[in-house]
Amino acid sequence: MAEPKAPPPAEPQSRPGHVPFASLGLSPELLKAVEKLGFEETSPIQAATIPLLMEGHDVVGQSQTGSGKTAAFCIPAIERVDPAGRTAQVLILVPTRELATQVADEVHKLASFKKGVRSVPIYGGASYERQFAELKRGAHIVVGTPGRLTDHMGRNTLDLSAVTTLILDEADRMLDMGFRDDIEKILAAAPAERQTVFFSATISPPIQALVRRHSRDAKTVKIEQRVVAGPPLVDQIYYEVRHHAKFDALSRLIDFYDVKSGVIFCNTQHMVEELADALVARGCSAERLHGGMAQPQRTRVMNSFKKKAFEFLVATDVAARGIDVNDLELVVNYDLPYDAEDYVHRIGRTGRAGRKGRAITLVSGAGIYKMQSIERFTKTRIRREHVPTAEAVESRRSDALFEKLRGKLEAGEFPKQTLLVERLLEQGYTPTEVAAAILHHFTPKPSAQPAAEAIDKPPEGRKPFVKHGGKPGHFERRRDDRPPGKPRKFGPRGKRP
Ligand code: AMP
Repeated sequence: MAEPKAPPPAEPQSRPGHVPFASLGLSPELLKAVEKLGFEETSPIQAATIPLLMEGHDVVGQSQTGSGKTAAFCIPAIERVDPAGRTAQVLILVPTRELATQVADEVHKLASFKKGVRSVPIYGGASYERQFAELKRGAHIVVGTPGRLTDHMGRNTLDLSAVTTLILDEADRMLDMGFRDDIEKILAAAPAERQTVFFSATISPPIQALVRRHSRDAKTVKIEQRVVAGPPLVDQIYYEVRHHAKFDALSRLIDFYDVKSGVIFCNTQHMVEELADALVARGCSAERLHGGMAQPQRTRVMNSFKKKAFEFLVATDVAARGIDVNDLELVVNYDLPYDAEDYVHRIGRTGRAGRKGRAITLVSGAGIYKMQSIERFTKTRIRREHVPTAEAVESRRSDALFEKLRGKLEAGEFPKQTLLVERLLEQGYTPTEVAAAILHHFTPKPSAQPAAEAIDKPPEGRKPFVKHGGKPGHFERRRDDRPPGKPRKFGPRGKRP
């Protein structure tokens, strides 16, 4: 029976939903910040909401973590800030302390070229005095949890009179967590003449009611996900790993599958640079390809990749659009793509021309929800596997060596080498000892390998950190977060007496 035909190569120059940041009418300072962060083009939610927000509309955006929603609402908010002001102009409500610090961090990075724009995270569990001092210093963008923000309002330490933009991030989660009253209080206290922005993974009736009561003619933006069939000949696997262990996981998978050629996708130019450097430091031959490189340099890299002059091409989506290489063994999603379409576009570069290919995706944290949505929209099963243990990698390597040696022994005679072996045998060593010593001499030293549990995400219900001595907020690292131990020694040595 004829094998099913691989889908024809499709290499559009740009995908709807991804536009250059330069086309959005942003200030030079913001464009510089976006470039510094290594973002090459917008994500779909950014392309759809940034222009509306810049025009001053109220917006309801439906999108999940990992869609780039934070930058989508932060960029226009930063653009609207007047650095001369002394009180909050933008108020961002978030459900958790972690999100407050994450969003404040993103604001900080995006505003890094805007002189005098300051932001502060305000959340429960931290000292009031410090937050009060920071607010008094004059923070333009306040990112906080509703409970702590209303506390500050009650103490008259948070002045909302100059707020022009109010953003509710993960609005559905905030309602689920019981913040409705606090949210209502904040929305009522802010000036009526303002822009109100809601971001939520789901737009449930309670969210709709909140939007109706507190916004004006809000534009709803929902990124429709299209169902796109995954390539039939690609073996698709994902690995759920701890964020800090992504590189170890990748290294081990490269060893395990004994990969000789592949493209590794990252979302930003930074990540491409970092990963390419790390791969080279590990002894792989890798080159980088991203939109920050000059065209002749990109062409040179592409051409040498086609000639198989190196093993791994680390690339962003934009730069990789022109990749036309037919027999890729492997595609790795080191960072998760934004949606199912991007995913299919990336992995469609392997498994072409009737050959079997493999696509590996590394997933960490909340990325698992995006992975599930990618699986739904590609209507393919993407297998979950555990990162192989160091022992599994070693055993696979030994099997490969065994096969290679057996092939050699069957194929030919080795007069020169035989002489050397006979000299050693005359010294009284056994043939097994001689063979083992030779193998040891030619086997590369295994690199220090972290324990499997330090890479794989812990099973459900097990927390990566444990509380220390019952003190709230004080955490101790788990034992298996330790740096890796010494590499195992090769088998027993020693001479016969
Ligand atoms: P979020 O959905 O806001 O949690 O964003 C997920 C991650 O994507 C964050 O680490 C952002 O820094 C990153 N990100 C946001 N926009 C872009 C972009 N246009 N290109 C590359 N990375 C982005």
